[in-house]
Amino acid sequence: MRIAVVAALFAVGALQASQAPAPGKVSRTPRMRLYVFDCGMLTISPEGVARYHVTPVEVGETRMPVPCYLVAHPKGTLMWDVGVIPDETVEKQASAGGARYDVNTTASALVRRTLKTQLAAVGYTPGDITYVAISHAHKDHTANLNQFARSTWLTPRAERDFMWKPGNERVEPSFYSALERSKWIPLDKQEYDVFGDGAAVIKAAPGHTPGHQVLVLQLVATGRIMLAGDLYHYAPERAFHRAPPDNEFDVQQSAASRASIDGYLARTKTTIWIEHDFRANAKLKKSPAFYD
Ligand SMILES: [Zn+2]
Repeated sequence: MRIAVVAALFAVGALQASQAPAPGKVSRTPRMRLYVFDCGMLTISPEGVARYHVTPVEVGETRMPVPCYLVAHPKGTLMWDVGVIPDETVEKQASAGGARYDVNTTASALVRRTLKTQLAAVGYTPGDITYVAISHAHKDHTANLNQFARSTWLTPRAERDFMWKPGNERVEPSFYSALERSKWIPLDKQEYDVFGDGAAVIKAAPGHTPGHQVLVLQLVATGRIMLAGDLYHYAPERAFHRAPPDNEFDVQQSAASRASIDGYLARTKTTIWIEHDFRANAKLKKSPAFYD
């Protein structure tokens, strides 16, 4: 039975891969694409919602989706945020309807689909990915980092240090132990242009963690969007100009980052995508569909 299921999965993967661009370190897409993957869902307790200085009534839907993103550029590929439960755990729990994991006392995750299956469906394996970056190192953004140990890691030094800080309960070092030896580029400026043409720019937005960052994409048809990491979790935090959560790494730095990013969004006519916003995520095209 299990062999038949595995064989069927391989057949589906092979079929979809044959219709997708050939894998390789260099992406074959004629112009930049953004794929949005389903990397799970967080159920947040009422105490957890209150951390963000909003109420369940204001928020409406308190669950938080966990998206992962692939940017396929003619010059290479970039993975941005990599989920909350490692693929191997999700595979083991497939017959139980998905894998579950308590991120902390207020947030529990359910993941039904592996990241690598979703990558394979559009023609990529983790080994094909040129660059990997995370908005920040919290557990719900890092689960599959070990699969990208052969990619070049784009991270501020402060975030890298935070990830191996002894006693840090906000991170799970087993998710990224292989990255300790990975090639990495320290991002020590306000902006880093990933492919050198301005199409994908990582911007510093510290505070939520020491090296929290956001990704700005200039897509030909879609326009300018920002994958904002956890600069905000719920849309009303931004709409009502509420103070950042009390458990931020640095609340004042978070407030300053929010103000400077809001100014940038207005100046550059860029649309913010709050990654954990349920309603916004529900409207997004999911891979294998893409934005370009
Ligand atoms: Zn998060």
